[in-house]
Amino acid sequence: MAKKLSSKLLIEFNPKLPKLSKSESKVLQLLIEAGKLIVPIYKQQENQKFPGANFYPRDATKEEISKVASKAPQILSPYTVVERANGKLVAVPYHIKYADLLKPIVAKLEEAANITENKEFGKTLLIQAKALLSGSYEKTTAAWLNMKPYVLDISIGPNDYFDDQLLFTKNSYQAWVGTLDSEGTDRLNNYKNTILSVRREGLIPTERVSNHDKIKAKVIDTILFSGLMAKTKFPGVNYPINVEIVEKYGSEITLFNQPNDLMMQKEIIPTFNKIFPKEFREEYSFEDLSRGNLRHVAMHELAHSYLYYRHASDNLKDLFRPIYELAATILGFRMAGSLLLKDRITNKQLESMIVTLLCRSFYLVKNRRFANKSLPEYTLGAIIFINFLLKSGALKDLKGMTILNFTKIFVALQDLFHILERLLSSGRREEAAVFIERYLN
Ligand SMILES: [Zn+2]
Repeated sequence: MAKKLSSKLLIEFNPKLPKLSKSESKVLQLLIEAGKLIVPIYKQQENQKFPGANFYPRDATKEEISKVASKAPQILSPYTVVERANGKLVAVPYHIKYADLLKPIVAKLEEAANITENKEFGKTLLIQAKALLSGSYEKTTAAWLNMKPYVLDISIGPNDYFDDQLLFTKNSYQAWVGTLDSEGTDRLNNYKNTILSVRREGLIPTERVSNHDKIKAKVIDTILFSGLMAKTKFPGVNYPINVEIVEKYGSEITLFNQPNDLMMQKEIIPTFNKIFPKEFREEYSFEDLSRGNLRHVAMHELAHSYLYYRHASDNLKDLFRPIYELAATILGFRMAGSLLLKDRITNKQLESMIVTLLCRSFYLVKNRRFANKSLPEYTLGAIIFINFLLKSGALKDLKGMTILNFTKIFVALQDLFHILERLLSSGRREEAAVFIERYLN
């Protein structure tokens, strides 16, 4: 499925494209070129040897950075590089630091904006281009969230923070380009509407930000992932991440067909063959599992919309993301349960979701030395998940083979989610640490 894996900072896929007009094809080509130009910027940011990547001076400690930041908040902005000038820490905005590398990207986006016959898309591309050179990211987020669905799709800019393992704030540049899968998008929106029609009170409602009238969802046939996206290879995302921005403008869930196929081939199927006995494996086709994987990713992303707890990130600090991500996965399964109750999915489909999640979790745990470096949050979540199921008796290890009981898993997930939501709504970092410690081994 992946055409080229030579550079891991750029992945190109080869999806079947919908019928495009001449000008649309030309615009798409420019978007692809713009997306590829993210790679040199990302190269300057990433550095797996240091928890703070290249976002902070090597000799600066967490304590020094935090202390300076209390008087100069720009130091901890997601969009600045911290440098040392005459011994003092200073924040340099991304759009200034990387201006030379951003200009050719902006030129491509502007050219695309001039050619496109979709006026709204053109206008939004111009807002996006401007943001890259001026730092007006909030305005861009609002503009993209306002746009009507369109066949061409791009996301480009400093949009996620997995590489900052020191202070968990700095965003990395990334891009995806693709075309809208309208059938898949309709299906996803049907699930979304069914799920969101079930009212769910948060544990502490005043602590929770609700944006349910402002959640968009789409499925994309993916042409390229570059920068951080090429490293994470997520089959789904829910952006923006910042709770205040979500409260103001809403959020959008995006699922990616070809990256899902890639994850199936590289991670899910090999693990499936390794951990489950033959009789069990024979019950599931590739199609069952591939759909199951994309469905549990979809549920995970939808579940995020129920878990925007205002103070969670400040309270849980470095342990926020692992707790938050695992909570979304577990709540996702409870929400899939409501689809089952309404006969929107079958038992078999729900089981396929569990099976693929288990495969993904075992994969992360088995490859933890490698995976730890790029996605420690998910690896930690996977370890907790598997150990929780083993300790609760929902999962058994029989001579290296995994034996599972779906009913027991559902009961166990109920308990696990209760703990995680408590931590998100009102937990302190020390409590999260005690919980994690209990399930590490
Ligand atoms: Zn997530």
